[in-house]
Amino acid sequence: MVTRSTLLYLSRHEGLKDFATRFSPFKKMTTRFVAGEDIEQTIRAIRELNAIGCTASFDHLNESVTRAAETEEEGREYLRILARIDDTGIRSNVSIKLTQFGLDIDSELTYRNARTVVAEAARRGNFVRVDMEGSTVTQVTIDIFKRLRAEFGLDDVGIVVQSYLRRTETDVRALLQIPARIRLCKGAYNESPEVAFPDKKDVDENYVGVMRQLLSSGVYHGIATHDPRMIDATIDFTGKHGIGKDAFEFQMLYGVRRDLQEQLARDGYNMRVYVPYGKHWYPYFMRRLAERPANVWFVMKNMLKG
Ligand SMILES: Cc1cc2nc3c(=O)[nH]c(=O)nc-3n(C[C@H](O)[C@H](O)[C@H](O)COP(=O)(O)OP(=O)(O)OC[C@H]3O[C@@H](n4cnc5c(N)ncnc54)[C@H](O)[C@@H]3O)c2cc1C
Repeated sequence: MVTRSTLLYLSRHEGLKDFATRFSPFKKMTTRFVAGEDIEQTIRAIRELNAIGCTASFDHLNESVTRAAETEEEGREYLRILARIDDTGIRSNVSIKLTQFGLDIDSELTYRNARTVVAEAARRGNFVRVDMEGSTVTQVTIDIFKRLRAEFGLDDVGIVVQSYLRRTETDVRALLQIPARIRLCKGAYNESPEVAFPDKKDVDENYVGVMRQLLSSGVYHGIATHDPRMIDATIDFTGKHGIGKDAFEFQMLYGVRRDLQEQLARDGYNMRVYVPYGKHWYPYFMRRLAERPANVWFVMKNMLKG
């Protein structure tokens, strides 16, 4: 039985990453979760989502980048994405990761790269979501987000919080004071019990508590989950408190519970799908397997079928 923590450990394994990205049958299996290798393929995937009533968040996969020149190229890639969103008229914002922009090198470099993208999004009337990564970078991610938010508007840049972290409730209280637009997710990294709740029951309980905190704030937030219990709790809470369907959005990942994505859009909820693309798919893909280890067998079966 392959466990979540084994898959998350392997997601950071450089040797396996090099092997997997060069081994073409493995690469083929990523198409369930990754829209393609380039911007144009991703636009096609987003058009299909738009056609069924979902918006998107465009994401160029790359993380833990250690060369400054590559972090700057990541910034330029996002300027191209923002331009293509406008050219094509697809309904999509963008998501970025700060380790993609240099967090493992220098926080000022990261801020400059992120600022370039947020400034361009603001100029175009678009929105940048700063993804949340492992707990070693939670504080610096929040600090850089706050600097961006001090300069740009509520509808220009937002952040993510993870319900598995013990600190999240306190972070949310402070972020709502700014205020900030927040995506709530459970959290996808390997964390120690000192910083994260080890039991799913506590992660879920915290998720529902934070969801209520967010949706009572009057700010437009993203409720990111595929968990029907979290979705039902959100629908129940908003229904009971007269919070309109247009006051928040549900968010899900490309390739996960497409049926539920369509259903919620049909029921009149705002539904946004996170659509990643690019060559550096390995860690993202492995985190998706870790969320549902049964996916490993699905991938292997399909690989053997050729
Ligand atoms: C839009 C979006 C953005 C995200 N951004 C971040 C981020 O910035 N930082 C971060 O740490 N995490 C992020 N995540 C990932 C998140 O933290 C969780 O790891 C992931 O969403 C799984 O949690 P869940 O809420 O779906 O609930 P779970 O309890 O993990 O899953 C509930 C059910 O959903 C289905 N499911 C969930 N994941 C999968 C999968 N991969 N394949 C197939 N079925 C699945 C299964 O049926 C499962 O039983 C994001 C998730 C979404 C949807």
